[in-house]
Amino acid sequence: MASFHQFTAAALDAATSPHLAGTVHGFMGRAGGVSRGAYATFNLARWIGDDAEAVAENWRRWRANYPGLATANVAQVHGATIHRVGRGWGDIRPEGDGMVSAQSGVALGVFTADCAPILLADRTRRVIGALHAGWRGTIAGIAGAGVRAMVELGARPEAIRAAIGPAIGQCCFEVDLELAERFEREIAGAAVFARPGRPGKAYLDLRGINRMLLERAGLNPDAIDEVGPCTRCSNDRYFSRRAAGGAVTGLQMSFIALSD
Ligand SMILES: [Zn+2]
Repeated sequence: MASFHQFTAAALDAATSPHLAGTVHGFMGRAGGVSRGAYATFNLARWIGDDAEAVAENWRRWRANYPGLATANVAQVHGATIHRVGRGWGDIRPEGDGMVSAQSGVALGVFTADCAPILLADRTRRVIGALHAGWRGTIAGIAGAGVRAMVELGARPEAIRAAIGPAIGQCCFEVDLELAERFEREIAGAAVFARPGRPGKAYLDLRGINRMLLERAGLNPDAIDEVGPCTRCSNDRYFSRRAAGGAVTGLQMSFIALSD
C-alpha cells in the first residue's frame, strides 16, 4: 500500500546538446535540490555559504543520476588558466577557469550564474573540455586557451564540437560603454556583438563573442551549439547573479565526461 507521505524528488534539470552526443554531459538547472533561499534549490557549490548538508544532499542526487563518475572542479578566478585532469585528480580545486581531459569517467564541472559555460569534445580523439567564460575570461582568451589545451592532448580543432550553455543573453547583459569599447579594442570583430543601450551603456552578446572565438580557434561554425535560455530571463530555471541584484546566489554546474 502506498504511503500518503511518500516523497518523490523533483527531477533534475539537465540540458544537453546533440553536438556532444557520445559523452555524458549536462547543463544543470536549479531545480530538483534541497538548498533554500538564494541557493534554492540545486546548488552544488560548497564554497559560497550554502548549508553543507543541503549541498551534500544535492551532490547525492547528482551522483544518483550520473553514477560512477568522479568529478573535477577548479577555483574559478575569471582568467584563462586551463588544467589537465588525469586519473587521481581527487578533491583538489586549483585556481583556473577550464579543464581538459582524455580520461574517461571524470566529469569536468564548471560553475556559473550568468557567465557562459562551454563544453567541448573531440569524440574521435576522445578529448573533452569544460570552460567558464565570464566577460573577464572571454577577454583573457579562455575559449582559445581551452581549444589549445585540448589539441595538446591530441584533439584536432576541426573535429571539436562545442556547446555554450545557459548564460546571460544580450537582452540582459547591459554594460558600461567603456567595457563594450574594451571588448572592441581587445577582440577584433567584437563590435558586431554589441548594440547600443541607454546613454553610456551597451548590450553585449557574450555567447556570440565566445562562438566567434571558438571559430577563430579552428572550430567549424556548425560545430558550435548554443543551449538554453538567458539565465536572467529564466531565473526560475537558472541561477543569475544579475537577477539577484548582484547578491549572493547559488551556482549551476555544467559538466562533461568521456564515457567508456
Ligand atoms: Zn535576458
